Amino acid sequence: MGIAVDPTGEPPAHGPARRFARAVVTGGAGFLGSHLCERLLNDGAEVVCLDNFLTGAPANVAHLLPDPAFRLVRCDVSEFVHVPGDVDLVLHFASPASPLDYLEYPIHTLKVGSLGTLHALGLAGEKNARFVLASTSEVYGDPLVHPQPEDYWGNVNPIGPRGVYDEAKRFSEALAMAYRNARGLDAAIVRIFNTYGPRMRPDDGRAIPAFTCAALRGEPLRVHGDGSQTRSISHVDDTVAGILALAASAHSGPVNIGNPDEMSVLELARRILDLTGSDADIEFVERPVDDPTTRRPDITLARELLGWEPRVHWREGLRTTIDWFAAQPGIHDAA
Ligand code: NAD
Repeated sequence: MGIAVDPTGEPPAHGPARRFARAVVTGGAGFLGSHLCERLLNDGAEVVCLDNFLTGAPANVAHLLPDPAFRLVRCDVSEFVHVPGDVDLVLHFASPASPLDYLEYPIHTLKVGSLGTLHALGLAGEKNARFVLASTSEVYGDPLVHPQPEDYWGNVNPIGPRGVYDEAKRFSEALAMAYRNARGLDAAIVRIFNTYGPRMRPDDGRAIPAFTCAALRGEPLRVHGDGSQTRSISHVDDTVAGILALAASAHSGPVNIGNPDEMSVLELARRILDLTGSDADIEFVERPVDDPTTRRPDITLARELLGWEPRVHWREGLRTTIDWFAAQPGIHDAA
């Protein structure tokens, strides 16, 4: 363990309050997890990445494998979690995250949110480590309060199709808080809003990869409903900085991490068409059940507690993400 934590949780004036010596990242071979592993290694930590490759892939961390400070372990965290040696940070990110994925794996999603979270908390308890749970804006469901602050309790349909994800995350938040309050575990919750960037799967069904790949292929961009529903998109570099700022603080959260720059889904599609220079059409298709109408984080708490705010403008973030997708083999071939 590096520098001691300020027990008041006061934000550091410059840089993180503490550095970690050895971190475990569950779901570390996924989109967000792989960026977290990379950043932690760059910050000088050893990293153990646990993943069952359900929705992630070893390819996402292949560039880290030559680093002796990095270990990739195939493991289903809903079954068990065992990591020999000292650990001072556990980042629990394992879970299908895109609607397409959690609708394909509903039971798995509920198991990793419940049993997987229990096992990850058990590891943090055994090692006396800081624990950060990757929660989500989806705990707010289809919100009746806008923008969403952390003290809003949400509007979730527990038996709707999205309930498997939303309720798994709500349960995992309750578990993390119970371990903090009843067992004194140093647990924190980050509520992540829509994040995009390199290493998203082209076929994961989320709007940015779907629109980008369609635009690059000259195929119609399928917009749900009339596209007036809003999303606020955060570049992965900003999201990762926010997550690690929370990890390095002594705060429990929940803390929203996301970009409040809200746009309609139709606007997003048009911006991607513009940035790719594509003349593909926009096609309006049926909206999924319980699709949230608005989504925008209130990030006052993150600003005040962590001194964090997003820096990457959508134009720059989308541009580099589109470039990344365009460089992927086979991306221009018809789907
Ligand atoms: P992802 O699907 O790319 O990554 C999830 C990773 O978890 C994958 O590598 C997958 O193989 C792994 N995994 C799933 N079940 C597992 C299990 N039982 N054992 C071990 N590994 C398992 O998704 P992501 O977008 O990187 O999301 C990562 C985390 O962040 C998730 O918990 C998600 O709920 C949360 N989150 C993401 C976003 C976002 O915009 N990307 C927003 C809110 C919350």
